[in-house]
Amino acid sequence: MQYTGFTIHHSACPSINGKGFDFLITRQGTIIPSAKPTEIDHLHICLEGDFSVKVSGDQMKEQLFIATKLIMRLCEAYHLSFEHMHPHTLTCPGRHFPWAELVLSMSDGYH
Ligand SMILES: [Zn+2]
Repeated sequence: MQYTGFTIHHSACPSINGKGFDFLITRQGTIIPSAKPTEIDHLHICLEGDFSVKVSGDQMKEQLFIATKLIMRLCEAYHLSFEHMHPHTLTCPGRHFPWAELVLSMSDGYH
């Protein structure tokens, strides 16, 4: 099994209904892994919340921090980089999802 990328969701996604993810990151920053892999070639990471509406940066600081750590660890394990990270759809994880912050903190971690 070789993963070729990450698909990022928010929990407001219609495909996420208690499943459809490999890792769920709660608002508090708890990581919940799924019992079974979602897809053979993509890791599905879901952040709890609805990012189609504006969320304050402070509110999701911990969640984003944990998401960064998890994704970096998975990158290392499966020889991927943040360039392999893709939104699920145009509306998932929502237009207010903080991509810039996620990518920035990941590239910081590589130094
Ligand atoms: Zn989705």
